[in-house]
Amino acid sequence: MARFQTMNILQTPIAYLKGVGPARSDLLNRELNIATYGDLLWFIPFRYVDRTVIHTVKKLTPDMMYVQLLGRIVALETVGSGPNARLVARLRDETGDIELVWFQGHKWVKDSLKTHIDYLVFGKLNFFNGRYSLPHPELEIYNPTEMGGLAATLQPVYSSTEKLKTRGLASKGLAKLTRTLLDTLGNQIPETLDEWILRHFNLLPLFEALRQIHFPQNQEMLEKARTRLKFDELFFAQLEILHYKNQRKKFSKGHSFKSVGPLFNEFYYHHLPFPLTNAQKRVIREIYHDLKGPHQMNRLLQGDVGSGKTLVALITMLIAVGNGYQTCLMAPTEILAQQHYATFTKMLGALNVEIRLLTGSTKSADRQEILMGLQEGKIPILVGTHALIEDTVQFNNLGLVVIDEQHRFGVEQRARLWQKNNIPPHVLVMTATPIPRTLAMTLYGDLDYSVIDEMPPGRKPVETKLLTDSHRLQIFHFMKQQIKKGRQVYVVYPLIEESEKLDLKHVMDGYESITREFPLPEYAVSIVHGRMKAQDKEYEMERFKKGETQIMVSTTVIEVGVDVPNATVMVIENAERFGLSQLHQLRGRVGRGADKSYCLLVAGEKLSNDALTRLQTMVQTQNGFEIADVDLKLRGPGDLNGTRQSGLEQMRIASIVEDSQLLINAKNLAEKILIDDPTLTHPHNVRIANTLATRRKDHPLLGMIS
Ligand code: ADP
Ligand code: MG
Repeated sequence: MARFQTMNILQTPIAYLKGVGPARSDLLNRELNIATYGDLLWFIPFRYVDRTVIHTVKKLTPDMMYVQLLGRIVALETVGSGPNARLVARLRDETGDIELVWFQGHKWVKDSLKTHIDYLVFGKLNFFNGRYSLPHPELEIYNPTEMGGLAATLQPVYSSTEKLKTRGLASKGLAKLTRTLLDTLGNQIPETLDEWILRHFNLLPLFEALRQIHFPQNQEMLEKARTRLKFDELFFAQLEILHYKNQRKKFSKGHSFKSVGPLFNEFYYHHLPFPLTNAQKRVIREIYHDLKGPHQMNRLLQGDVGSGKTLVALITMLIAVGNGYQTCLMAPTEILAQQHYATFTKMLGALNVEIRLLTGSTKSADRQEILMGLQEGKIPILVGTHALIEDTVQFNNLGLVVIDEQHRFGVEQRARLWQKNNIPPHVLVMTATPIPRTLAMTLYGDLDYSVIDEMPPGRKPVETKLLTDSHRLQIFHFMKQQIKKGRQVYVVYPLIEESEKLDLKHVMDGYESITREFPLPEYAVSIVHGRMKAQDKEYEMERFKKGETQIMVSTTVIEVGVDVPNATVMVIENAERFGLSQLHQLRGRVGRGADKSYCLLVAGEKLSNDALTRLQTMVQTQNGFEIADVDLKLRGPGDLNGTRQSGLEQMRIASIVEDSQLLINAKNLAEKILIDDPTLTHPHNVRIANTLATRRKDHPLLGMIS
């Protein structure tokens, strides 16, 4: 494809644009990430104001947001002094007066304002003490001849920053630059989509869409421009991801695991702790299909909390070992690594396989021994934390890497793991973050995808209740009842990000009141929080697991993965402070055994609408995908981890949630094109091939991901 590559005019540095120059270019770069002509063109207005309407003072109402008035300045004075000084101008139209107010830049404004001239004034309407005013309005000398023309249209509003504003690059200034750029470029803006695609989807040409998105003729053209640009963004993101995936599949070598091997057979037929669910069986088949083949596997395994991903991981690892390879499992926290190590050791007890644990707190002597053993190929299975990615960890023949709860690992961390071998190991990434399918295919388009969509049998729904502080006594009473039955209880406090101290105080206060209510020797209470040493956390977790303590008080460190089937009550304090997926994860800690389980959400009396929706959703459903959907609607996809991991840059105009139909169209098109023309050499795809090649230069990292 590279042979088509030409210098693209959109990559011209912004400094060359008339009216920019080096200083402004630096500023644009730093403040808005605008470095090139293309960046400026894709800096999309965040809203438009309808300047065709002129209001009158008399008819203003408090609910108006932005208004445009036409009038003269009849008085101008500076009021107050020092930091409180402000400039007040009285604007008069045929119906009345209104104040225009400036808190900054008085002198400059004062000198520039003229009386006896008609101004078009535009600004955000302020209503205070029964009076209207316009703080820091935009003013423009009224030019009646222009009104029927350009000024009387939808005008773009761009976000700007304080620094840019002082350099004349508030929204207006940015609009002016954009106008200059559009005029300079004319129709030289290279079209990114080939003719047949434009025709098929009835899309505006790119140069027209960019012109209309900044300076729309009317609402209808604005909509058409939006659609075209959104499509562009979604389509090329998809094409890029799928193209890489194809390349990887075609060119990457992988270890081929010719058979499932003896260990698998031994375990599967003689030592399975319980029959696998159909979903578990299916994903194991999907995984093995990859492992058998000649290429590296990169598979995402998604499965709701408690769906049994660990067992799938273990079985996959046994296949690797049975084929003579080493394998490792990387967990995001020390506690989880410890837990997986314990689970594996127990499950493989009857088999003769060595498993070792490597974390940040592994003692130096053990560490040396483990590192040696790995290098010599004597340790087939390694479980650990981030410690596994350190350069000192060298394998003899690493065949498979499993990453648990992947959202805590970044791209680079993944990449470093598979650089640990000449032929890259197969990679299985496991996540419990439920993501709607359209989103998953976008975020993780570079990975193949398996889902465990079935829970192990016998799971009872976790009864979930929304309570407040006034229920404290009942809550304690209920906890006692459950403990009497031999069950265990989690009490979780939120992580207060703004203040680590407050966070600790919260959980310590909770711990105190609980130890008061549940005193020794009748009860024993564990505590785990973020600021404890790893060993201490482990020790406390271990006690709880063994049933030596009945209550586990903690911050969200137990959010993911922890598995104590005897725990049946999850009390979540300040539940309104948690995100939906976090609540879902936390609730997933109970309901893992045979006994009925409960989740008590303790929240404040006054809740925001969003918080209430979150908590009610928790009460109404246990389905991770439904919860993810609500979560997505409340938060938008911006927060979802993993966006960057698939090389999917920040979308500038499209929204994965709102434009899901467009996304699906874009994905289908990208797929179809790559099937018909995998190398993009066909003349009717020349524009998209060119565009992709230009993008590639902007995202060198993508090539390293898979
Ligand atoms: P997650 O997918 O959240 O990591 P785990 O792997 O921790 O879930 O499994 C949750 C619980 O379900 C564990 O206690 C595990 O032993 C149990 N489990 C897993 N698979 C099955 C199965 N097929 N039948 C019964 N219980 C199972
Ligand atoms: Mg897990």
